[in-house]
Amino acid sequence: MSFKKDIHVRIGEIKSDIGFLKDLEISIGKIIEEEWAEEAGPTPFPSIVDLRDWDLKLLQRYKPFYMPFCDLCCLCTFGKCDLTGDKRGACGLNMAGQQSRIVLLACCIGAATHISHARHLIDHLIKKFGRDHPIDVGGLNVEVEAPVTRLVCGIKPKTLGDLEDVLGYLERELTRLLAATHTGQEESNLDFESKVFHAGMIDHVGLEIADIAQISALGFPRAEPEAPLADIGLGVVDYAKPVILVIGHNVPPAAEIVDYLMKNGLYGGVEVTGLCCTAHDVTRYNPKAKIIGPISWQLRFIRSGVADVVVVDEQCIRADMLIEAQKIKAPVIATSDVNCMGLPNRTRDEADRIVEDLVSGRQQGALILNPAKAAEVAVKTALLVAPRRMKFKALPDVSDIIEGARNCRKCDECRRACLNDLPIREALAKALEGSLDALASLYDECVGCARCESACPINLPLHSFIVRAAERRLKEEKYKIRVGRGAIQDVEIRNVGSPIVLGEIPGVVAFVGCANYPRGGAEVAEMAVEFAKRRYIVVASGCAAMSIAMYKDEEGKSPYEIFPGVFDAGGIVNVGSCVANAHIAGAAIKIASIFAKRRLRGNYEEIADYILNRVGAVGVAWGAMSQKAAAIASGFWRLGVPVIVGPHGLKYRRMLLGRKDKPEDWYVYDARTGEKVYIGPAPEHLFYAAETKEEAMVMIAKLCIRPNDTTKGRSIKLSHYIDLYKRFFGSMPDDIHLFVRTLADIPITMRDEVIKVLEEKGWKENIIPDPTLLPRLVRRRAGE
Ligand code: SF4
Ligand code: SF4
Ligand code: SF4
Repeated sequence: MSFKKDIHVRIGEIKSDIGFLKDLEISIGKIIEEEWAEEAGPTPFPSIVDLRDWDLKLLQRYKPFYMPFCDLCCLCTFGKCDLTGDKRGACGLNMAGQQSRIVLLACCIGAATHISHARHLIDHLIKKFGRDHPIDVGGLNVEVEAPVTRLVCGIKPKTLGDLEDVLGYLERELTRLLAATHTGQEESNLDFESKVFHAGMIDHVGLEIADIAQISALGFPRAEPEAPLADIGLGVVDYAKPVILVIGHNVPPAAEIVDYLMKNGLYGGVEVTGLCCTAHDVTRYNPKAKIIGPISWQLRFIRSGVADVVVVDEQCIRADMLIEAQKIKAPVIATSDVNCMGLPNRTRDEADRIVEDLVSGRQQGALILNPAKAAEVAVKTALLVAPRRMKFKALPDVSDIIEGARNCRKCDECRRACLNDLPIREALAKALEGSLDALASLYDECVGCARCESACPINLPLHSFIVRAAERRLKEEKYKIRVGRGAIQDVEIRNVGSPIVLGEIPGVVAFVGCANYPRGGAEVAEMAVEFAKRRYIVVASGCAAMSIAMYKDEEGKSPYEIFPGVFDAGGIVNVGSCVANAHIAGAAIKIASIFAKRRLRGNYEEIADYILNRVGAVGVAWGAMSQKAAAIASGFWRLGVPVIVGPHGLKYRRMLLGRKDKPEDWYVYDARTGEKVYIGPAPEHLFYAAETKEEAMVMIAKLCIRPNDTTKGRSIKLSHYIDLYKRFFGSMPDDIHLFVRTLADIPITMRDEVIKVLEEKGWKENIIPDPTLLPRLVRRRAGE
C-alpha cells in the first residue's frame, strides 16, 4: 500500500457544465493507493454494525448465559437500581442488558489497552526508525504478513507508517463501542454482545500491528520454528551481579537497556531480568536476557530482594509496586504515561541528576518517558545500588514465621480472602510444631496476590511466609523457554492445512493468557504436554507460555526442549507475548486463505465461517484474569474459535453455551446443495469455564470437532475425546451419538463400545455436508 500525504489543489478559475468555480482550494489529507490484485471483500474497515448479522448467527447458536456478580447497577445517579428477577432499572435496562454491557466495558478496556500499547509502540518505532521502515515478519517465508489486518481492514501494510492508518480506524471504532455503554444506548443484550465481538476483533488487529511493528523494527525472531532457548525461573538470576527487573508489556525501555549495556561494554556484567510480557519481548530482542516468570510472581521476586532497580512500563503491574520496592530500597523507574505511579516527571532532567536522587534515596523513583534516558538511568542506578542491596532483604526469617504462627488468632480470614482457598491457618499451625513443609506446599497454588495479608487482622506477611518456606526450592528453579517466534510461516500452513481441515491433525490448542491459575501453573504445562504427545499442534503465548516452560520430565528437560517449535502435529510453539496472540488467530486465518485459497481481503464473515466449520482450533486461557484476556477471547469467538477458561473465568460473568439437546440449533447449509442439514453440536460451546484440568482436557478434545471433518479425521478426534473422558470420568461419554455421522466415524479400537451407545440412543446416520452458515456461499440451490 502506498500513500500520498497532504495534497493541496488550488483552482483559480474553472468553467464546467456544472457551473463556474473561482478560488477553490481543496486539501486532501491522504490518498490511499492500494496495489493489491485481490478483489476487496464486502467489509473492509467494518463499522460496529457491519458484521452484526454474523454475530447474531453465532449468538443464536451460542446463547449468552449470565452469572451476575451483583444484582444492582450503579453506573449513573438514577441508581442504585435493583435488576433482580424481571425488574428494570430507572433507564429501562434489565439484567441481561446490564451484564452484557459490563462485559462490553471489560472488552473495551482490554482492547483500549492493546490499541493504546500499539499506538505507543508504533509512535516510538516510527520516531526511531522512520515511517518507511519496512514490515518484515518472516522474509520470503511469510508472504501474508498481517492476516488479521488484511482480513479486517482489507489492506496490506508495507511500512510502519501504514500501521498508523490502521490505528486511526481502531481508535474510531473503540470510541463508538464505548459510546454504546452510556446510559440510554442499546436495549438488547444481543446488540451489546455483538459489540463485544467487535471489540474483540479490533483488539486482535491492535495486537497484530503492535507485534509486527516490533518484530520488523527490533529484529525479533521472524517466524523461526527454532528460535533460541532462553533461561526462565527464579533460580536463573546471577545474584552476584547488579540486577535490573523490567515488568510489563511495552518493550522499548527494556530494549534500550540492552542497547545501553552493549554500547558501554557492560553487557554480561548486569543481569537484565523480566516479568510478564516485557520479559518475553526482551528475550526476543536478546535471548541472553532472563525471564523470571509470569506476572503473578511480582511480589515474590521483589520481596526476595534481588532487584536493584525496577523498571515498569504498562499493564498488569501491581498498584503497590512502589511500596513493595521501597521495602527493599530498590528505586523504581516508571516509563509509561498510563502508569505514572505518582512519581515526579523527570523526563527532561539530566540522567546523572536523576541517578543521584535515586541512589541517595532522595527520591523513591522517577517517571521518565524517554526510553533511552530511562535505560541509562536504570543501568547507572543499578551499578551504584547493587553493592548495598543485600542489606535490604524483605523476606522474614524462620523465627518471624514461628512468632507469627504463635500470634495467629485462628480466625481464617486469610483463607476466606484467598483466591484459591488455601489452608494458610493450618500450615501456620504446622510451622509452630516445627515444620515449614505445609507452608512451602502452598507455594505452587499461590498466585501471589497478598489478599491474605490484607485480610489478616494482625497483619502477618503471609505471602512472604509462604515464599520464605519454599525459598530453597525457588533458588533451584531453572528452566528453558523457546523465545517467542512470532508468525507462522506460509509453508507450515501449507503443510498442515489439509490434515487440520480434514481432521487428521486432531486440533490446534492455544494456551494463552494470564496466570490466575486455580491449582498452579503446572496444570497448564501438563495439559500442553498431553496434547503435544497426542499430536495436536500446541501453541502458547504470554504467561501461559512461561508456565509451560516450568515443568521438567524425568530427564530434567522442559517442554520446549522436548517438543519442536514447529507449527505441526506434536509441536509446542511459543509465539511470544500477549500481542503475539495475533499470530494464533493469524494461523487460523491463513489456513483459510493460503491452504483453502479463500479470499482474505476485507472478507471477514466468509473466513470466520470457514474457521468455525473447518479449523479445529481451541483457545485455553486457564489463568485468565484481565480485561485484556476478555478482549482477546472475544476476538477468537467472532472468528469461530471456542475458548475455555479455568474456574476463575466464571467471574467474567457470562458464558456462550451451545445446547446439544436442541437439534434445531445445529443446522447449517450444505454449500453443495443449499439444503439445511444437521451437523451435531460441533463445536459445542464458544465460551466455557471448566472446573478442573481434567474437565478442561476433555472439553478441549471435544471442541476441536468440526462439521467438515472427514470420517478419518472425526474418528481420530472422537478417539481422543472418548479416551480422555474414560480416563478422567471412568465411563463412556453420553453424547457420542451426536458426533458420529456415519459408521466410518467410529474409532476402530472402540467400535463395539461405541456401537452399543449408538444402539441405546437410537442413532441414525447423517450426511457429511460442505458446511456453511452463509447462504451466499451456497453454490447450487436445492431443486435447481
Ligand atoms: S497470596 Fe497466595 S495464599 Fe495469599 S491470598 Fe493470594 S493466593 Fe492465597
Ligand atoms: S487471618 Fe491472620 S490471624 Fe486469622 S487465621 Fe489467618 S493468619 Fe491467623
Ligand atoms: S478486582 Fe481486580 S482490579 Fe479490582 S482490586 Fe481486585 S485485583 Fe484489583
